Amino acid sequence: MSLVERDLKVIWHPYTQMKTAQPPIPIVRGEGTCLFDENGKKYIDAISSWWVNIHGHAHPYIAKKVAEQLQKLEHVIFAGFTHEGAIELAERLLNLLPINQKKAFYSDNGSTAIEVAIKMCLQYWHNKGQGRNKIIAFKNAYHGDTFGAMAVSGRSAFTAPFDSLLFEVEFIDLPDASNIKALKSQISKIKDETACFIFEPLIQGTAGMLMYKAEQLDQLMAHCRKEDVLMIADEVFTGFGRTGKPFACNHVNELPDIMCFSKGLTGGTMALGLTTCTQAIYDAFLSDDRLKTLFHGHSFTANPVACSAALASLDLFTDEQTAISIKRIEASHVQFAAKIKSHPKIKAIRQTGTIIAMEWETGNNTSYFSSLRDTLYNYFIDAGIILRPLGNIIYILPPYCITDAELAYIYSKIEQALNEI
Ligand SMILES: *Cc1c(COP(=O)(O)O)cnc(C)c1O
Repeated sequence: MSLVERDLKVIWHPYTQMKTAQPPIPIVRGEGTCLFDENGKKYIDAISSWWVNIHGHAHPYIAKKVAEQLQKLEHVIFAGFTHEGAIELAERLLNLLPINQKKAFYSDNGSTAIEVAIKMCLQYWHNKGQGRNKIIAFKNAYHGDTFGAMAVSGRSAFTAPFDSLLFEVEFIDLPDASNIKALKSQISKIKDETACFIFEPLIQGTAGMLMYKAEQLDQLMAHCRKEDVLMIADEVFTGFGRTGKPFACNHVNELPDIMCFSKGLTGGTMALGLTTCTQAIYDAFLSDDRLKTLFHGHSFTANPVACSAALASLDLFTDEQTAISIKRIEASHVQFAAKIKSHPKIKAIRQTGTIIAMEWETGNNTSYFSSLRDTLYNYFIDAGIILRPLGNIIYILPPYCITDAELAYIYSKIEQALNEI
């Protein structure tokens, strides 16, 4: 049996309608920006394998560090025990983050990093004897697929079967110059019941790479600070250079209370989640009363192998060559945007850092499930490029090692698609 036949017998894929989906493409090898299938066909991974990869596939330096770690210590329980990788990673990351981030709590992925953040905020108020249990989030937000993360995400086709079980959230519009005042008063009205405000800084990825301005986020954050509403910055997607700065929160002056990371944390090598917080949040859990403990943990909390991948990725991330690559990709996107923005098929084009998104003109049929999405997806797969449109929105979000020639090839195929489809 072929890999595809074996797959279809036993596997249930994520976000996939198994009845109508095309068979998956078996990938056997990765190198740099490219993935290779079993027939040797090459694909440029223009979406960093669901936004996780930042330094390229099968990076030899990360591979070496992970292999070394595997021969020393593969895992150890993280309650009552610790290990150097987890300590060093926390030390180095906290150094790079906004200065008020003081403690690191590990988990397994982006969704769990969010669950931890939400529980930290709710229990922070609980431990202080204040029953604040309202959460504010942006409309169309995406914070993950576990129940708490789903609850603070916008209600959508993804959440519909579960909507009746999701806790209530106060959803607010993305800020712009015209509505910022109204948003502030909306927050002020419920501040006494509100535990926290959770947001994707600057870019709502899953919503379709929707972008909003740092200036207005800064104003909203300043208002939350004034009203004593805790802030959770979900940097699961935006972290590690995507927005042109190391973290999206580096674009604002205000400081979030809690930050969540995953995707790029290990360079896209393996699953690891991280929630960081301020000293004040951490202190609210310190007590002789054991009931004030944060009762949360996963079997693989702070897995040493995952930490070694994250440390190796951090070595590469802090190398000046990476900052240069990020600038190069950014400049290249700017040029491409200018070139195609007046094409009649382009309804909107937006860019932040290494991310560029193009909205395809479709008349009225703009849903996630529109057939255009599949047409575009297949068009680029045939051309050896992995682009995974969100409905009618195509975006490029490459590993930072992408070459100018690879970028030029992706751009040329997009232009060709604009003219042919
Ligand atoms: C992907 C994502 C998550 C969830 O991360 P997983 O590792 O897929 O669970 C949370 N927040 C944002 C902004 C994301 O893009």
